[in-house]
Amino acid sequence: MPSITRGDCRKCHRSFAKSQMTRHLKSCLGSSNQGDSMLILVELPRSPFWVYLTVPNTVKLMSIDAVLRDLWLDCCGHMSEFSSHDDLYVDEPDEPLFGRKRERSMNVSLKRAIGHGSLVYQYDFGSTTTLVLRVMGEKVIGLEPGIKVVARNDAPDIRCTECGGVATELLFDDWAPIAYCDECLGSVEEDGEAYTLPVVNSPRMGVCAYSGPSIEP
Ligand SMILES: [Zn+2]
Ligand SMILES: [Zn+2]
Ligand SMILES: [Zn+2]
Repeated sequence: MPSITRGDCRKCHRSFAKSQMTRHLKSCLGSSNQGDSMLILVELPRSPFWVYLTVPNTVKLMSIDAVLRDLWLDCCGHMSEFSSHDDLYVDEPDEPLFGRKRERSMNVSLKRAIGHGSLVYQYDFGSTTTLVLRVMGEKVIGLEPGIKVVARNDAPDIRCTECGGVATELLFDDWAPIAYCDECLGSVEEDGEAYTLPVVNSPRMGVCAYSGPSIEP
């Protein structure tokens, strides 16, 4: 899948390539010394999936965790964590094991945890989805109070392997998933091991039991 994708700015509704989006959003949203939000890019590296959020400075990591689950990730309520260079942010911090990072609570502001840099976020320690959060702007004027999506990748154009129409399902048979539309999938002979998962606009498409829906904050 191509890693260069486009998306719409939710403020002015114009379409931009991802490579232009940071610059566009910073000028379109505007910034001021009264601006109380950060502009955060969340992405699955080397994939078409990315989202820009405006996040008020007071928002806690646990709220970002909840937003990412609703938007992109939650299949069966797996565990998750954020990590910085020195620290792990988890639901219930424990005494650190030797050689492990210091564990801290997610009940801390994103601003404090991320500083001016980045955090790694992992959802599910079995079939892990690893995302990167990066500060792209500070003191921006958020769209509305609370965490908001201000831009997001357009759904990748995934085509049915049989007819070339828009694919809706991924069939997992041997090792690689095959994309089908509903109609063509109906005429495929599936063996007993095969299963399907829906095509969704998410970095967790085809992973574990993920089948959406995508709920934006
Ligand atoms: Zn705009
Ligand atoms: Zn799962
Ligand atoms: Zn088809």
